[in-house]
Amino acid sequence: SDKTIAVIGLGNMGGAMAANLVKAGYEVLGFDPVPAAQARARENGIEVTADGPAAAARADIILTMLPNATYVREAWAALLPAAKPGALIADSSTVDVETARALHAMAAEAGLQSVDAPVSGGVAGAQAAKLTFMLGGADEAAERIAPVLAALGQKTVRCGDAGAGQAAKICNNMILGVNIVAVSEAFALAEKLGLSAQAMFDVASGSTGQCWALTSYCPVPGIVPTAPSNNDYKPGAAATMLLKDLLLAQEAAGSVAANTPLGTHVTEIYEKFVADGHGDEDFSAIIKSLR
Ligand code: NAD
Repeated sequence: SDKTIAVIGLGNMGGAMAANLVKAGYEVLGFDPVPAAQARARENGIEVTADGPAAAARADIILTMLPNATYVREAWAALLPAAKPGALIADSSTVDVETARALHAMAAEAGLQSVDAPVSGGVAGAQAAKLTFMLGGADEAAERIAPVLAALGQKTVRCGDAGAGQAAKICNNMILGVNIVAVSEAFALAEKLGLSAQAMFDVASGSTGQCWALTSYCPVPGIVPTAPSNNDYKPGAAATMLLKDLLLAQEAAGSVAANTPLGTHVTEIYEKFVADGHGDEDFSAIIKSLR
């Protein structure tokens, strides 16, 4: 059975995931070029190798958690030739569907099993091992990686073949983007109509306006204690990150001629928000631009 896991990319997400794999009893190797990420990984019991391929060469399962598609494609090109025969490689970064499918093809060519396994749940979910995984790939690979994902999250949804996990991820985040703007507009309107934010919340949270953007991530402070709005809109998830996912959804929509008028509009709203210098704020800070 699989005992050794290589985690490539020990940032906010990958670092926390690697630490949870150590806690679950796996031997965990990892690499990240950033010294601070390396130091934190060592503190958490991860063996930091000289580079990514050095970790991959000894691993039963290789997991990449990198900033974007360009990084992932480059990393896989170096990792695949180094991997042990029979290893499985998974990517949990958020990338475009076309890249996800290309990665599966690269792995197949190298004779390795592969899955796309993007996540939702954010850094807090990664730390608490409460991520949700959206899984794309062959059944055999999905079954094989299940125990590893169980150590990192509370739920895995089997979405379909190669790229289906990434398709699910970007469609979900398009809903999130639309919903956070809708909730923000409603609170801004309520305020101008003389309705208190609490009354607005009490009605909508138990009514047909109910959604995660409202009940878990309320953009108005003072209502949902764990929401970034109560922490001066510090991320959470940065506006740049949501914009990245919205752009991926628009790219995917363009490639199949899907009609996504709200997705397009919300992408424009976040492009402006980021261009105005708010990219590092939590995405729920969008309410400030709608008041
Ligand atoms: P991050 O920037 O904190 O971590 C990425 C890490 O990859 C960095 O530490 C960087 O040094 C490292 N890296 C770059 N090139 C490398 C290489 N060649 N080899 C090894 N490591 C390398 O980003 P993050 O927040 O951990 O996000 C990672 C991915 O997860 C992104 O694709 C993001 O879209 C996705 N994601 C993030 C969240 C979130 O809330 N942060 C939620 C869901 C999905």
